[in-house]
Amino acid sequence: MHVLVVEDDGAVSKLVKTYLEREGYAVSTAETVRDMRRTVAGGEIDIIILDVGLPDEDGWSALRWLRAQGDIPVVMLTSESETVDRIIGLELGADDYLPKPFDLSELLARLHSVQRRVEQLPAPAQPGGEEKIRFPGWIVDLATQQLTAENGQPVRLTQAEYRILVLLCRHPHQVITRDQLTEAVAGRSWQPFDRSVDVHISNLRRKLMRNDKLPSPIRTVRGSGYMFVPGRE
Ligand code: CA
Repeated sequence: MHVLVVEDDGAVSKLVKTYLEREGYAVSTAETVRDMRRTVAGGEIDIIILDVGLPDEDGWSALRWLRAQGDIPVVMLTSESETVDRIIGLELGADDYLPKPFDLSELLARLHSVQRRVEQLPAPAQPGGEEKIRFPGWIVDLATQQLTAENGQPVRLTQAEYRILVLLCRHPHQVITRDQLTEAVAGRSWQPFDRSVDVHISNLRRKLMRNDKLPSPIRTVRGSGYMFVPGRE
């Protein structure tokens, strides 16, 4: 596991590096978003610890860039009291966040949990504070379980379609297997002859069809499952 720590505070970054290396991680550091981009472009980074406060750009724009590039998991380091940081971070696709100041053991626990999630997806999370998921053209309201087009037109979803959509939205750019989708829908394992997930997906795609030329946000990954690719705003 190769971790990139993006933090301009040398003391913090050195502390984290020393600690994680002792825990068996390979650790690189970057002091600016520019450094981060260069290191990520070089490949081989498995997970990124990203501070919000950086000298050249803020962590949010760094996170947007990372999400446009791919799906390297990101743990954000946020300022201590601002829950808004957490919400923005999760909406932009951070995998987890840690308010500063933090314990190194807590950071390690977050890394382990992100690794677990990346390696093996759990059942869909309960709505934890977040109320709406947005992607181009659409808003999913988690409180009312309602899908609404951006022009305000509601779209009725079945419970299964809703669960599938939320699971996909929460893990953009990741392959979600039929097994995981079936578990999300019905809490059971997928049988090779069970096509019901595909039926739900096809209905969902039809409902998400727009009259512009945008490709469907739900892509088929041949032989594996599906991937949510929300496209550009
Ligand atoms: Ca900083």
